Amino acid sequence: MKQNTFIILLCFAILSCNAQKNFSSTNNQTRLTQSNSPKLVVGIVVDQMRYDYLTRFDSKFGEGGFKRMMREGFNCKNNHFNYVPTYTGPGHASVFTGTTPKYHGVISNNWYSKTEKKVVYCAGDENVKSIGTESDAGKMSPHRMLTTSFADENKLFTQMRGKTIGIAIKDRGAILPAGHTADAAYWFYGKDEGHFITSSFYRNDLPKWVNQFNDSDTAESYFKVWDTHYDIKSYTESGSDDNNFEGGFKGKEKATFPYDLAKLKDKNGGFDILKATAYGNSLTTEFAIASVKGEALGKDSTTDILTLSYSSTDYVGHNFGVNSKEVEDTYVRLDKDLERFFEFLDTEVGVGEYTVFLTADHGATDVPGFLKEKKIPINYFNSKKFNYHIEKSLIKLFGNKYLISSNSNQQIFLNHELIKKLNISPKVVKQSIIDVIQSFPGIDNVYSSEQIFSEIDDHFIKLIRNGFNKNLSGDIVYTMMPNWVYYRKGSTHGRRFNQHTHVPLILFGDGIKRGSISRETDVIDIAPTIASVLGISSPNATTGKVIFEAIDD
Ligand code: ZN
Ligand code: ZN
Ligand code: ZN
Repeated sequence: MKQNTFIILLCFAILSCNAQKNFSSTNNQTRLTQSNSPKLVVGIVVDQMRYDYLTRFDSKFGEGGFKRMMREGFNCKNNHFNYVPTYTGPGHASVFTGTTPKYHGVISNNWYSKTEKKVVYCAGDENVKSIGTESDAGKMSPHRMLTTSFADENKLFTQMRGKTIGIAIKDRGAILPAGHTADAAYWFYGKDEGHFITSSFYRNDLPKWVNQFNDSDTAESYFKVWDTHYDIKSYTESGSDDNNFEGGFKGKEKATFPYDLAKLKDKNGGFDILKATAYGNSLTTEFAIASVKGEALGKDSTTDILTLSYSSTDYVGHNFGVNSKEVEDTYVRLDKDLERFFEFLDTEVGVGEYTVFLTADHGATDVPGFLKEKKIPINYFNSKKFNYHIEKSLIKLFGNKYLISSNSNQQIFLNHELIKKLNISPKVVKQSIIDVIQSFPGIDNVYSSEQIFSEIDDHFIKLIRNGFNKNLSGDIVYTMMPNWVYYRKGSTHGRRFNQHTHVPLILFGDGIKRGSISRETDVIDIAPTIASVLGISSPNATTGKVIFEAIDD
């Protein structure tokens, strides 16, 4: 009896060994495999999503969206940006390249270029053409991003066979994540066109499925009334709908539900109004679904990458603020969109055959006027007075106000040519400007570029250092006190404090464990973690670390 069992087991072992051999040899003959790798990786960025939206709106979320990700996947509860400035361009670049502006070079959304002597846009590219629009909105590419994204590494690994598609309402949200080797990135052009477009950097026409999508009335169908998904009375997680701290839309006196978008569209940029409503995310989801079908993403065992950025959350946040009913409804509806998208992937790609992560490109602050009303100390920083103060001081000290080429992104770019021509010591100019800035109300620290790379071991100076590119950044960096702000209505971001840096990170699907951690992770850890799941090299300038707790070996 015992012997029989042994023989049966032996036969089974030999058979399965042969089967395995046959399997790998056929695979080797046909193509390179990423054995056991997911068929599709979906990298989701929710523009301006604070970590605490996950917990604050918990009771409003269904089981299939954010909660499914947390239940079936891995939740990194203290995930932060580890640099300043916390803006959209650098945020998207950092998530997908696994490094900070110090290396990937996307130092802001717009910055003063020292070599081109003008302000440049992080995704702007004069050398390419618009595809799918008569406008210049397609003159874009990732050429200012200096390092690879994990999608690029997947392309290199698969001999360019793994597809990469980037999608967002915002051009930079689609372009930077998809990297340099993407098959295409698509973003939304509003005005009177309302189409997803691309640039000649990727291809010279729109594929059939994109034309079909643009010709359908999908975008137009959202010119309807935007009201809360659930009864507004149940939205107890946010403040009063009618308050003094919201921007709102032109043509409507109060920033209150319902919003009749068909009626408001003409005064608010035509199709552009959709960007600033919850429907912009639904439109993005529709387009993402069309892309998976149109490009046959996740249909074979070579891993494809879809990068998907939900931009409308940022527009709504800036317009209405983190405590608004509009933000709450936007997240309630985004949760439904995610549920629909995951269900679609379950049938189209297969349960457990794809991997998803969801994070944000930065957080958001509370509305200053609202905080003031609640007796929380807030001061308004007067940028106009600040600039005048610097100019006046330059005239007094050097008899010339043009010694600065640009004061942007809280950095001063000196006019080195003029300083040389006037035969003034750049060191003296620099120190004088530092002293002038330091004396202005609301300023916290002022650093010279040399100090940023010095040995000073301070949390905030490290954040500045990580966001500072030696060739691209300015000569002086200043920071403001935490309770000083330069805007009045709605929410914003860009700085080094917790509300700007703390964002969600949830991973789920193939290769990901169930669980959570509370130790601090950085957004730059995402790319090496995904690379590890795929068994490929991390992006070429990765400074993040693999979140090993999340990986299911
Ligand atoms: Zn953003
Ligand atoms: Zn409101
Ligand atoms: Zn923003």
